[in-house]
Amino acid sequence: MFDFLFGLFSEDLGIDLGTANTLVLIRGKGIAIREPSVVALHRKSKELLAVGREAKEMLGKTPQNILAIRPLREGVISDFDSAYKMIKYFIHKTHRFPSFLPKIPKPRVVIGVPSGVTEVERKAVMDAALASGARKVYLVEQPMAAAIGAGLPVEKASGNLIIDSGGGTTEVAVISLYGVVNSKSLKVAGDRLDSAIIDFAREKYNLLLGQTSAEEVKINIGAVGDLAKMPEVNEKRATLRGRDLETGLPRSFEVSASDLKESLEKEVIHIAKAVKETIEETPPELVSDVIKKGIFLAGGTSLLTGLPEFIENYTGVKCQVCKDPLTAVVRGAGILLEEEKLLKRVAIAVS
Ligand code: ADP
Ligand code: MG
Repeated sequence: MFDFLFGLFSEDLGIDLGTANTLVLIRGKGIAIREPSVVALHRKSKELLAVGREAKEMLGKTPQNILAIRPLREGVISDFDSAYKMIKYFIHKTHRFPSFLPKIPKPRVVIGVPSGVTEVERKAVMDAALASGARKVYLVEQPMAAAIGAGLPVEKASGNLIIDSGGGTTEVAVISLYGVVNSKSLKVAGDRLDSAIIDFAREKYNLLLGQTSAEEVKINIGAVGDLAKMPEVNEKRATLRGRDLETGLPRSFEVSASDLKESLEKEVIHIAKAVKETIEETPPELVSDVIKKGIFLAGGTSLLTGLPEFIENYTGVKCQVCKDPLTAVVRGAGILLEEEKLLKRVAIAVS
């Protein structure tokens, strides 16, 4: 009864704590925040200077007294203190309590966390949300939230294969009956593709390219697979702007999608292999469901041109990108706020 009354007044939140982007959804209102998971701190005092987009712009450009950090770099919380500050910042931004009400209801918060985070890290995430005024915090593994957001029937006794490929990690999971039956998490995702472009620029042109420029080039022209079949992609060009490693002077080179293809495929093949292994390790009854339904892709890296076809060719199983892949996890968290029973079944226990 109290829960019901609280629910009427409080604004429950769903959060996708991604390695690249954090999204916050307000129950009944929709997505309120979509910002890079980056914080900028004063190096000595550790005072919070900026969070999100503003902090991301500082990455690689900070003077000595400022530290720009991605607290969840490779799917684990690499910096507790900044992760804590970032979570608190985003919750406060969406949920301001009216100060004239002493007994204001507190929100329930569902947070999607990378499946690789340890018990200690989960506790830290939970504490940050509780310290921000949450009444009850539920943690859900991101592939589970992504599957729910993608509309897959996770409650049925039937296999669903979801790939959530973001910035720091790619998670591959087979889900059936509210649970992850089999999964793999690998540190090959968007960041690695950016690094592959940086390596390409260094090896081929002796050019030092920044992470942000590499990401931009990847988003604009990056592609894998049979580019001959995609003439409009094959002809795409972009400019690599960086610093000549010999002279130290700024230089730029024009590259095409096919120039970058090999470097990107060297990384993407690891994702395809992980998917194939996951299928091989999954019980046969569930595999037959997966073959029937196909593989579903979520996360920003699923937007890489040719990736679904690449995985499809490698595994022999149909592969499709889910609707609005960048928001699947947070929309899944939103659905869980509405469906208490489902939430209780899929939430991770934190002791
Ligand atoms: P995370 O869940 O780890 O926070 P996201 O799902 O938000 O990550 O995805 C972010 C990653 O997706 C980044 O590496 C970004 O460069 C990449 N990305 C976004 N859009 C595209 C695109 N159109 N093509 C290729 N990669 C993309
Ligand atoms: Mg994600």
